[in-house]
Formats: sequence, C-alpha cells, structure tokens
Amino acid sequence: MEFNSGTGDLIYSFAEKLYPICRSITGDGLRQTLKILQSELPLVLHEVPTGTPVLDWTIPKEWNIKEAWVKGPNGDKIIDFRNHNLHILNYSIPVHAQMDLQELKKHLFSLPEQPDLIPYRTSYYKENWGFCLAHRQLEQLPDGTYEVFIDSSLKKGSLTYGELFIPGKLREEILFSAHVCHPSLANDNLSGIGLLTQLAKQLLEKNNRYSFRFLFIPGTIGSIAWLALNEEKIKNIKAGLVASLLGDSGSFTYKKSRRGDTEIDRIVSYVLSHSNKPYSIKDFFPYGYDERQFCSPGFNLAVGNLTRSQFGEYPEYHTSGDNLDLIQPIFLEESFQLFEKVVKCMDQNKYYRNLQPKGEPQLGKRGLYEAIGGQSDQKQLQLAMLWILNMADGQHSLLDIAIQSGIAFDLLHKISQILEKKELIEEIP
Ligand code: ZN
Repeated sequence: MEFNSGTGDLIYSFAEKLYPICRSITGDGLRQTLKILQSELPLVLHEVPTGTPVLDWTIPKEWNIKEAWVKGPNGDKIIDFRNHNLHILNYSIPVHAQMDLQELKKHLFSLPEQPDLIPYRTSYYKENWGFCLAHRQLEQLPDGTYEVFIDSSLKKGSLTYGELFIPGKLREEILFSAHVCHPSLANDNLSGIGLLTQLAKQLLEKNNRYSFRFLFIPGTIGSIAWLALNEEKIKNIKAGLVASLLGDSGSFTYKKSRRGDTEIDRIVSYVLSHSNKPYSIKDFFPYGYDERQFCSPGFNLAVGNLTRSQFGEYPEYHTSGDNLDLIQPIFLEESFQLFEKVVKCMDQNKYYRNLQPKGEPQLGKRGLYEAIGGQSDQKQLQLAMLWILNMADGQHSLLDIAIQSGIAFDLLHKISQILEKKELIEEIP
C-alpha cells in the first residue's frame, strides 16, 4: 500500500473550513460539520432520537443557538457569541434578563492563570447558562446593570453521528474514531477529524485486507450510543485508534488499550520506536477520549489513543489558544504519516507457515540468491530469509520476527513475498 504525500496542507485547510462552526454533542453545528465531511467521504449520517436509552445514559435534548450577548451598563455589547463560539457556555439554556454584576459573575467563566484566553466550558447534563471570557476583561467590568440575552433552544431532537464502513477481504475490522463535538478548537477535534478524513479517502481507493470503520461522533455520549446500538458489529473489531490532538508541535504520545499487549499496541510501539523521533507510551487510564468507552470492561476492545501532546497537557488545551495558529501542516503531515505506517504495518503483519519445516531448505537451488541479487546488503537479506523460514511456524507474525531479529519490518515483508512466490512459505489466514 502506497499513500500520497502532501496531506498536511489538505488536513489544515479542512480544519480552516470547520473551525468557525459552533459544534456541540447535538444540533445543527454538528450536522453541518458532518455534511461537510460528506463532501469528502460517503459518510452515513445517523440520528439517534432524544430520550433513547444508551447503556446507562440517555440521549439528551438537542441544543441549538442563534445569538447570545451581554450588554454592559452603558448599553454596549461587551460579550458577543458572534465574535467567538467559545464565549457561550455550550448547552446554555435561553435567557433574557437584567442583573447586577455580582449576579452576572455567577455565570461568567474565565482563566485567572491565562488571563488573555477564553475557556471552553460545557453544561450538557445540568441545565445552566453562562458566558466565557478572558480574565483580563472580566476584571475590568464596572458595577452596574447588565442585560443578558441567549437565543438558544433545548428541545426534543436527536444526536447525529457519521459512520463509514470500508469493506476489505477480511471481516475483521480496524476502527478509527474522532470526536466532532468541540466548537472552534483546532488541535482538539479538528486535527483528528481532518486526519481521519484523509486516511479514509486513501483507504477507499485501495483493495484492503482488513475492513475499516470510521466513526465521527460526539465525545462520550456518541461512543456510548454507537456501542449501545451496534453490539453485533463489535465482535469484528480487531483493533482501533482514537485520533485527536495531532496538529501541535508536541512529540507523539501513545496511550495503550486497556489490554495493553494487543497487536495495535505492539504495532504503534514498534512504529514509534523506529521513527527516530522522541515519543512516549503510556499505560491505559480511564479518562481522556472515547478509548475510555471502547475500553470499558464490558467491551475491552483493542483500541488505543494516538496523539501528539497528551490530553489536557498543553497550555492551550480547551481554550481559545487552541486555534488555527496552534496546528501546522508540517505536524499534521507527520501525524498522518505515522497513521499510514501503522495501517500499513497492520495490513502486512501476517502469519506464515514454512512449507519445508524440517531443516533449512536449500536456498541456492531455488534461485533465492538470484532473487535478491544485486542488492547492496546481501547479508541482511539472507538473514531475513533465515529468520522468516525459522520462525514461520504459524505462531509468529512478521512483527514478532522483526522484534526478535532486530531486522526492519519492511525488509521482512519484502522477503516474505519472495519466499511466498518461491512456495517456501504460505500465509495462514
Ligand atoms: Zn476536548
């Protein structure tokens, strides 16, 4: 499988397009986002009605918003949702009232330690209203009477998510998931959405061994809804990755699946360890993104979370600082290449059986030396052959052989194809 390059710019411009939309876990901003994704992918949109029980949760009312502002004592709009989606407490109920500063402050959210940034706050499951603003602005608000207006609605509707299934030769599937519920946050959701969109586009063009499933879902409630409504599909999920935080300058972080030693955990670790770049690998912990639902004990799927900076661990996290300046095409490109390497390794990590298992087959008489002739590193190529022939007992995958031998996976893959052609090994399905 060969992939196109230059996708960092495509992912970035897609993020630019999606950035201005006010998304939430339900509503028209979410729908509009998924419809834009449909212009790139044959994504199927699902609507799960308000009130539907999903595992221990219930699909909430649908939230939409048109306008929201606060007018100061002199009648000027001092906070306006039109200027930044993060100004509104996401899921704010409608309100139109006058109040003094002390009362208003109960509904204002700011970050004293980062006084120039607007925080991102939500109140999905407890009815409330509020505004988020820079702490520097909050400190300068004069006493007096304020007018507050929020033209939002919280009504029976549905939760929307997008799903794309790409059938492969095998029924076993690899799951990729990104959350799509954050408004105007670039690294935290748009980088993952854009990266998975490009990955899916490229996989759609190929004949794949595994099947692939892409989910573009609201965080937490979206994955819970998908798991609740698709239990029959879960048995086919062989591996998966939750994609997020992939456009910042931080080094890669892989959070393992709850099981910790599955094929996807070993492949991501292997690819990172051969990247010549700094990285870190963390054991599973039960917070973060949707891996915590996929890895809840009743499902316990082999799903990890691959990011650059880690969840909550960069200063712009969940603030207006997580904008289009924080992510860069060069980092998105590097992240994309990492994902494509993982997919490729998964695709090529096969099990073989040696068809001449008693003793070493005589390589010379089969023209094996000519088959690899002219190669600069003959010795390494021969070693690769001997390793594969010795360990091809149906119990060791190419990745196992790469790890044990120290020979690069790509080389082993190449040699395995030669040995297969010479009928010395056969793939075990
Ligand atoms: Zn987030």
